[in-house]
Amino acid sequence: MIYFDNASSTQPDKECIEIFSKASFECYQNPNSIHALGMLNYNKIQKTKQNCLKNLKLDNSYELIFTSGATESNNLAIKGYCYKNKNRGNKIITSKIEHESVLNVFKELENEGFEVVYLDVNENGTISVEDFEKNIDSKTILVSIMPVNNEVGNVLNIKDIRNIVNKFPKCVLHGDCAQTLGKISFDYSLLDMITISAHKIYGLKGIGALIKKKKISLKPLNDGGGQENGIRSGTLDFPSIMAFDYTVSEIVKNQDKFYKNIEVLRRFLKNELEKIDEIRLNIFPNQCPYILNFTLLKKKAAIVVEALSNKEIYVSSVSACNSKKEEPSHVLLALGRNVEDAKNTIRLSFSKHNTLEEAKSFIAALKEILKEIKDRWNIT
Ligand code: PMP
Repeated sequence: MIYFDNASSTQPDKECIEIFSKASFECYQNPNSIHALGMLNYNKIQKTKQNCLKNLKLDNSYELIFTSGATESNNLAIKGYCYKNKNRGNKIITSKIEHESVLNVFKELENEGFEVVYLDVNENGTISVEDFEKNIDSKTILVSIMPVNNEVGNVLNIKDIRNIVNKFPKCVLHGDCAQTLGKISFDYSLLDMITISAHKIYGLKGIGALIKKKKISLKPLNDGGGQENGIRSGTLDFPSIMAFDYTVSEIVKNQDKFYKNIEVLRRFLKNELEKIDEIRLNIFPNQCPYILNFTLLKKKAAIVVEALSNKEIYVSSVSACNSKKEEPSHVLLALGRNVEDAKNTIRLSFSKHNTLEEAKSFIAALKEILKEIKDRWNIT
């Protein structure tokens, strides 16, 4: 099989499962119990947090809160901040190309009375600085912009955004880094709050983190026993946290090596796809090599995805979260594509396991499928 749907989820490293399984069996004691075994687990968790901050080159002005993944981290960062700080202002800003776990939170806050701005994305796949400057004001308390988009892989201009946010001391900058960590080199200290998720980088599903400046106060979304400084109640998942530690350390150690291989793979695919008439690549000047997105002109993406799947080649049409709805991709629409094109988009997303051989087989299979569709349905 060929698996090119790694932005949806990656295969976890064997070591993660071994760490998880050993810790589940042997270190089951609650890290919040005050006996020696509880404290041992608690101290290991604190060490893990320090490792992660160090790996992301963040100083001790930051702290880490474990969550179930990027969706929860985004909810906690945005709702937690807005509910806690609404006395400081009620305007919040995001972009039109965020993941649903950001956009839907913004929609909910809009319904609750917050003034919300959804920024357009320009032809470079980035935010226009002028547009952002026009929208941000002294009432703005939060901006949330992802450094790397999950459908198209365009890299956003977070540094420009940071420089502008700096002029508004009440405002904090959050970034959904689910597709950033381990993929591109990025200065995490540009952000006040950072979302990460382990299953996008060969880790386990169900574990992620929200990293934030210590001075930022959040309203907890769940009431409970007060774990994680009262911000995220619930018994800490010690085994998953130990596996998370391995995941983050490994990806940071190997990021550059993986990047080089992925660049070669993506360049090959890009060159080959460019030669196919029925395809238009969705390419932007600054793009993460782990994602390659293209539009099928006059062909249904769902049919092609199914035909590829029948050949044991797995890709996505729009993002996995959206693809069952058969709606046009909100990202492609925001990037200026029409509804038909935004519906018929395929995303290839890569992992360290993918090879050039797989890329060659993919191109051959795709050409065959496009020809079959043409012959069978007489669709040009
Ligand atoms: N944000 C982005 C950018 C993503 O790509 C995803 C996964 N599709 C999520 C958030 C949700 O991540 P999780 O599954 O960890 O909740």
